[in-house]
Amino acid sequence: MIVLDDVWHSYDDRPVLRGVSAELSERRIGIIGANGSGKSTLARTFNGLVVPDRGTVETLGLDVRRKRAEVRAQVGFMFADASAQIVMPTPAEDVALSLRPRGRRRRGGPDGAVAARVAEVLAEFGLADHADAPAQLLSSGQKQMLAFASVLVTEPKILVCDEPTTLLDLRNVLLVRSRLAALEQQVILLTHHLDMLDDFDRVLVMDDGAVVFDGPPAEAVPFYRELAAR
Ligand code: ADP
Repeated sequence: MIVLDDVWHSYDDRPVLRGVSAELSERRIGIIGANGSGKSTLARTFNGLVVPDRGTVETLGLDVRRKRAEVRAQVGFMFADASAQIVMPTPAEDVALSLRPRGRRRRGGPDGAVAARVAEVLAEFGLADHADAPAQLLSSGQKQMLAFASVLVTEPKILVCDEPTTLLDLRNVLLVRSRLAALEQQVILLTHHLDMLDDFDRVLVMDDGAVVFDGPPAEAVPFYRELAAR
């Protein structure tokens, strides 16, 4: 659950969010809109990656401005460019890093329990055979699966996906779609792949920093198509 109350934000005096208010409680929420309409900036306020100039964001009952670390631990993020999210040389090390308590770097390999969990998660995301291979040599679909694995292993209560399929081919788009559909937690998906939202509960359409439509996908997507064609 995320509650936005009159959220404003500017970059260099240029308003990017103009008084966004919404209660986001549904399990599957899409956010769509033209490039530059403010979707990513809005999503980044959900866990304090962006602190708005004005207004409040309450995530899971916590004021993000004051409880940023607590919120961050419970809100996972996935981005279009999975490469930028992979910080360790191999998939196994990358997932293991997510399992470590914040700020602690252990010497040597992960211990037994961590190694077992890492193996389990990599297998779940089809990466068992690549556990110790160079992560940067994975295909873009495999990199997105690794980013998924590394985020989900932390068991976030909310997963925010900022265009997770933009760089993927159709097969991998479908794979990400089915992965998202299987998740129990709340998912907020920013995307230009509009058909991914068919079975979503709610879709927000953004235009020039404001939410200009908010409703079921069967109404929101046609609204956005019309807006884009204007
Ligand atoms: P969207 O996700 O809908 O494409 P963004 O929130 O990424 O929109 O961007 C909204 C506007 O803010 C764009 O014009 C973008 O160039 C600008 N912007 C985004 N991030 C920054 C930043 N860190 N510094 C300056 N301008 C930014």
